[in-house]
Amino acid sequence: MNTMSRSNLSVSFDDGANSCPHCHYSIEPIKLFFIILGAANSLGSFLDVAMQCPRTECKRMFISTYKVKNLNAHFSFVQSKPKNFIAPDVTPQVIELSPSFVEIYNQACAAEASDLDQISGVGYRKALEFLIKDYCISKNTDKKDSIKQLALAKVIGEYVNDMNIKECAKRATWLGNDETHYVRKFENQDIEDLKVLITLTMGWITNCVLTSHYLENMENRKKQPA
Ligand SMILES: [Zn+2]
Repeated sequence: MNTMSRSNLSVSFDDGANSCPHCHYSIEPIKLFFIILGAANSLGSFLDVAMQCPRTECKRMFISTYKVKNLNAHFSFVQSKPKNFIAPDVTPQVIELSPSFVEIYNQACAAEASDLDQISGVGYRKALEFLIKDYCISKNTDKKDSIKQLALAKVIGEYVNDMNIKECAKRATWLGNDETHYVRKFENQDIEDLKVLITLTMGWITNCVLTSHYLENMENRKKQPA
C-alpha cells in the first residue's frame, strides 16, 4: 500500500503501476504529486498520481489513475496512461515482402493498446489482406493486377498453394470479417484468436520464403566441389 500527503490531505492507494507504460520495464515508480477528482471519501471519486520511471534510460512521466475503494480515502488502481504499445515481432522476410502490412499491423496494435477495440480488429483484417496479397503477388508477378482486385478469400483459394498458409489465412479472414460485419459468425473466437492466426500465417510465410531461398540457391550441390 502507498500513501501520499499534501497539506492536510492524506491518501492511500494500492500498488498497481508496477511497470512503465513507456519502456515496459518492471519498476518501482517515483511518485511525484497527486490530485483528487471529487471528495476523497466519496464513491465515484478518482485519484490521479503523477509518476516517473526511475530507469536512467527512460525517466518518462505517466499518470496512474485510481478510484475510491472504500470511504477511508483508500484508492484502487485503474490504469496508467499514456499506453505505449510494444511493436509486434515481424520477421525480416515479412518486412521485406510487405512493408504495408507492417505499417497497418503496427497501427492496429497501437489502436488496441489505446483501448480502441472496435477498430483495431478492422485494422488487423486490413493488415492480413496486404500480407496475403503481397505474398501472392511475389509468387505471381504477372497476376499482380488481378490479385489486387480480387476478394481476399478468392486470392487465398486461387493463389495460395501451401496448405498451412492457406488454412491459417482462411480462418484469419473469417475472424477478420467478423470484426467488420454487423453480426459475428464465430461467437467462440475473438480478436486474440485473429492475432494468433495472423502470427501463424506470418510464420508459415516466413518458412516458405526461407525454404524457397535455400532450394533455389543450393540446388546444384552435385555440380559443386565436395
Ligand atoms: Zn520507463
